[in-house]
Amino acid sequence: MSTAHHEVIIIGSGPAGLTAAIYAARAQLAPLVIEGEPSSTSDQPGGQLMLTTDVENYPGFPEGIMGPELMDHFRSQAQRFGATSLVRKVAKVDFSAQPHRIWIDDDNKPEPDFTATAVIIATGAQSLMLGLPNEAELIGHGLSTCATCDGFFFRDQEIAVVGGGDSALEEAMFLTRFASKVKLLVRRDELRASKIMQERAFANDKIEIVWNTVVTGYLGDGKLTGVSTSNTITGETAELALSGLFIAIGHKPSTSLFTDQLELKPNGYLVTEPDSTRTAIAGVFACGDVVDDYYRQAITAAGSGCQAAIDAERWLESLD
Ligand code: NDP
Repeated sequence: MSTAHHEVIIIGSGPAGLTAAIYAARAQLAPLVIEGEPSSTSDQPGGQLMLTTDVENYPGFPEGIMGPELMDHFRSQAQRFGATSLVRKVAKVDFSAQPHRIWIDDDNKPEPDFTATAVIIATGAQSLMLGLPNEAELIGHGLSTCATCDGFFFRDQEIAVVGGGDSALEEAMFLTRFASKVKLLVRRDELRASKIMQERAFANDKIEIVWNTVVTGYLGDGKLTGVSTSNTITGETAELALSGLFIAIGHKPSTSLFTDQLELKPNGYLVTEPDSTRTAIAGVFACGDVVDDYYRQAITAAGSGCQAAIDAERWLESLD
């Protein structure tokens, strides 16, 4: 494959990447979206919403919409204005000089597959998972990584959250608005969360902390009905009947391609200039969950994708 040049290349195709594509395409920049690898759970085309079922908090869909269908809409809208998609994996980038260079699939090729004047990074983040059998099948069917998205489906039901950090406690407290009981499954005999969050959780009657407990398996065929657990001190095993399980053991931004070229925060997320999607390298912009360790919502990712396209467009204009 000889090297092809694009004015704008977007890496990643979740809400941030595809919104950047809609805006860049409507600005006549004919962006190429390198979507990721279909077989991968970390770089999959469409991003994290491909792992959810009903999305009820994305504005504009009063009856809700399935996550994969929403991402199809994003993609069709971008393509309608001239964006093109490549469903492959980026193997290497070189942002050391203009034009920026991008290799697909194999990082040993002497010449890059693509060059771009502006690159928008929208590679997202992934929730850390337990890695137990049937995990992928059960996501969206009783197993979730987002209380804000899915808590509503568990009204008056008994559910659990795995984790003992601020995320887990925040999720557990949010879930008590809906659920009749929230068990917090903690693998040690103490929480990692901040003291103030701990006090709030201890004071919440609906939260029951189950100490020294790890989840060893998911129960249920096609839909989660409970979990098997093991006590880390006694080795005692048990089964808990649950209609929902939320995993909140941390997130990992997809930044491995950029670690030696762009500045990362201590927690691994990309650094952008304040109130901007610009990185420290001219012509390289970043948006969505790869920079956002706080809001992590489809709508906020989409908003920052729009900002990245506008920042890229104005930067390209400034070159003329
Ligand atoms: P953390 O890394 O802080 O906590 C992860 C938790 O998950 C820990 O309790 C850890 O246990 C547990 N864990 C990890 N792996 C497993 C596993 N395989 N099985 C069971 N439990 C596991 O991640 P968070 O996402 O909670 O927080 C990330 C950062 O974001 C933190 O700095 C946090 O303070 C911040 N944050 C702040 C919020 C706020 O201020 N409102 C809200 C949410 C996050 P162990 O302790 O044993 O390692």
